[in-house]
Amino acid sequence: MAEDAIHIVGGGLAGSEAAWQIACAGIGVVIHEMRPVQQTPAHKTDALAELVCSNSFRSDDAFGNAVGLLHEEMRRAGSLIMSAADAHKLPAGGALAVDRDRFAAEVTRRLAHHPLVMIVRGEITALPPPAWGSAIIATGPLTSAALSAAISELTGEAELAFFDAIAPIVYRDSIDAAVTWRQSRYDKTGPGGTGADYINCPMDKDAYDSFVDALLAAEKAPMHAWEAATPYFEGCLPIEVMAERGRDTLRFGPMKPVGLSNPHAGGTRPYAVVQLRQDNALGTLWNMVGFQTKLKHGEQRRVLHMIPGLAQAEFARLGGLHRNTFLNSPKLLDRQLRLRAAPRLRFAGQITGCEGYVESAAMGLIAGRAAAAERRGRGWLAPPPTTALGALVGHITGGHVSAGDGTGAAPSFQPMNVNFGLFPPLAEPPARGRKGGSERGVAKKQALSERALADLAPWLAGTAPGSASGRHGDGFG
Ligand SMILES: Cc1cc2nc3c(=O)[nH]c(=O)nc-3n(C[C@H](O)[C@H](O)[C@H](O)COP(=O)(O)OP(=O)(O)OC[C@H]3O[C@@H](n4cnc5c(N)ncnc54)[C@H](O)[C@@H]3O)c2cc1C
Repeated sequence: MAEDAIHIVGGGLAGSEAAWQIACAGIGVVIHEMRPVQQTPAHKTDALAELVCSNSFRSDDAFGNAVGLLHEEMRRAGSLIMSAADAHKLPAGGALAVDRDRFAAEVTRRLAHHPLVMIVRGEITALPPPAWGSAIIATGPLTSAALSAAISELTGEAELAFFDAIAPIVYRDSIDAAVTWRQSRYDKTGPGGTGADYINCPMDKDAYDSFVDALLAAEKAPMHAWEAATPYFEGCLPIEVMAERGRDTLRFGPMKPVGLSNPHAGGTRPYAVVQLRQDNALGTLWNMVGFQTKLKHGEQRRVLHMIPGLAQAEFARLGGLHRNTFLNSPKLLDRQLRLRAAPRLRFAGQITGCEGYVESAAMGLIAGRAAAAERRGRGWLAPPPTTALGALVGHITGGHVSAGDGTGAAPSFQPMNVNFGLFPPLAEPPARGRKGGSERGVAKKQALSERALADLAPWLAGTAPGSASGRHGDGFG
């Protein structure tokens, strides 16, 4: 193995894809994978790219679903993960489901047989040594304790999370403006706000009582054994746990109505309020404040649709609480997924703050290509923000709003699946079709996907606008 090989810690979805991209660029790569010497609480085999839970890569519709579009972009970028998934797919309607054992065996075999790839088994317990040169850390949501401690020492304890407590995120254009209104509590402007930074959903006593009853009766998602042993932080209790503590707990917590007056009801104070706060710089996604929940996804939709103003809400992501290791990436990483404080270290996969098998592999693809270009001494540009790959990089490294950017939002970076809310809006939205909103939504997704694939082509070819001399050296075929 050449001395200038790039080292990757973690041979999961992201590490395997990064390794493949680097090897295909003609550069040696060493994958350090701790299994089977040491297992994680969720993995069961020694295969690379093991799927720890579901066997689905979700929708494969490239023109109607953002993750389907991501599949297509990754295929066009020569992804190993997508090629192995396509080779071992199972019947699953519009979804891409795979035979998990054959899928992981194929990824492992193709990497193990590649002349430029070496696989070393064993836990890496400290940061990659400087002697390795540039390295990619792709150790996932269940990064081993020793390495987590080393990362946290480098980044600062507050910048590496070990649990995600996610409140549902709603598409702005699915919130009913005839019922809701914009107002910050007591009209406070704060450091960068306007006094009207929140969308408020009002409830009268009957609506509140029905909502609490529905929450208490709704089915909760089961916890993994090791998650059940991790106590909730008091500061981010799930709403159903708050409801169990007392009928008025929510009304004195995240649903408190003080400092708010409903213009649709003569300026009176509602009995309770659900607030939403802008979640991305584009203003397309809004976060339900304090509404982290462990309810099953179907139950979340049913119960949250009871909230006035959210009857037709479409969710970019539903709530959840999981064991997860992830960086405060917007602060820590640059557009090439390098640690600003130590640029020889790149991160890839779920630890960067994306969510899901496909998204994790996609961020492996990006880290691998960027590392390969750097090793070749070439410039490299992140994919255009109009592509699914670029939208994800944008979310991770800068798309999220934070205090001080004029929105008044507190910094609260949370992992996210790819979704069309992360894409810049179309210059010309499609006209309303005969069947109204849903037909227009379909046309909008199609137009966003067509734009993405058109913009991806020059990026893959290394001729995207903005590249030095019209080339950014990414087309290393
Ligand atoms: C319990 C659980 C269930 C999930 N279910 C789903 C699901 O159904 N669908 C979905 O889309 N996503 C799911 N996810 C989220 C996420 O998509 C997966 O975790 C995905 O595998 C992340 O990819 P990754 O490459 O970032 O990490 P991983 O695929 O976990 O790969 C990380 C690798 O690094 C290795 N490693 C860790 N520490 C070290 C170390 N110190 N030294 C060497 N190697 C190390 C691990 O053994 C592992 O092989 C789930 C996550 C968890 C935790």
